[in-house]
Amino acid sequence: KDFRNNIKPNWCPGCGDFSVQAAIQRAAANVGLEPEQLAVVSGIGCSGRISGYINAYGFHGVHGRSLPIAQGLKMANRELTVIAAGGDGDGFAIGMGHTVHAIRRNINITYIVMDNQIYGLTKGQTSPRSAEGFKTKSTPSGSIESALSPLEVALAAGATFIGQSFSSNLKQLTSLIEEGMKHEGFSFINVFSPCVTFNKVNTYEWFKEHIVDLEETPDYDASNRVAAMTKIMETNSLVTGLIYQDKSRKSYEDMVAGFKPEGLAKQNLNITEQEFEKLVAEFK
Ligand code: SF4
Repeated sequence: KDFRNNIKPNWCPGCGDFSVQAAIQRAAANVGLEPEQLAVVSGIGCSGRISGYINAYGFHGVHGRSLPIAQGLKMANRELTVIAAGGDGDGFAIGMGHTVHAIRRNINITYIVMDNQIYGLTKGQTSPRSAEGFKTKSTPSGSIESALSPLEVALAAGATFIGQSFSSNLKQLTSLIEEGMKHEGFSFINVFSPCVTFNKVNTYEWFKEHIVDLEETPDYDASNRVAAMTKIMETNSLVTGLIYQDKSRKSYEDMVAGFKPEGLAKQNLNITEQEFEKLVAEFK
């Protein structure tokens, strides 16, 4: 079960995305998947390249659209373990509409956001996650907008699994991805994945200084939604660990009436070839 392929990532040395790639590969092996049982769908951005760097089915989609593709894939073949992945610009700017609705829909996929608080691929512009006052080429006098809290949005949208981790904590990140893959519903995992080339504020050192890990709160109850929102707000969204999980809600696939456990791709349509051709012709 080797999820590595022979493609060398062209991320900058030290980019946080390397750890996310390693964590996905380890988590997939740890939960006992074979490469042909995993699909990784990505959007656009430096992080979007990740779907090409994992030995599994890969789909490098268009900007902000990893989630519609991943959800379609899961509905067509629910036997696949599906991961959607991308950056904070991809998921929280152009793709935010999809993010919120995928969360509330609760389809059984894992969405991993490599959150570096800047647009790296286009050489350093302010993203929805950049802090107020953050100076970039697009905001030379400092951003006048406040940063989005994806954790607050996810919880408010009805998420059933919210985790957050940091590229420097490979053990926690791998374990969260494993838990996300096992979760029967939509799992959202935000990862502080530093852009070492363009973000000189939110560096590895900055995160090490500011992160509040839930390991420090042993009696934290991840099933308590109010406690989760309180912790997110108290830590200014810098909390890491499994923040919230609701195991009681069924996944979207399980609630669709008559939806069989095997993927649509494997179901017998029970129609003749002529009827099938007629059906296809209607869509031409
Ligand atoms: Fe990573 Fe930033 Fe380099 Fe992109 S520009 S590969 S995000 S370090």
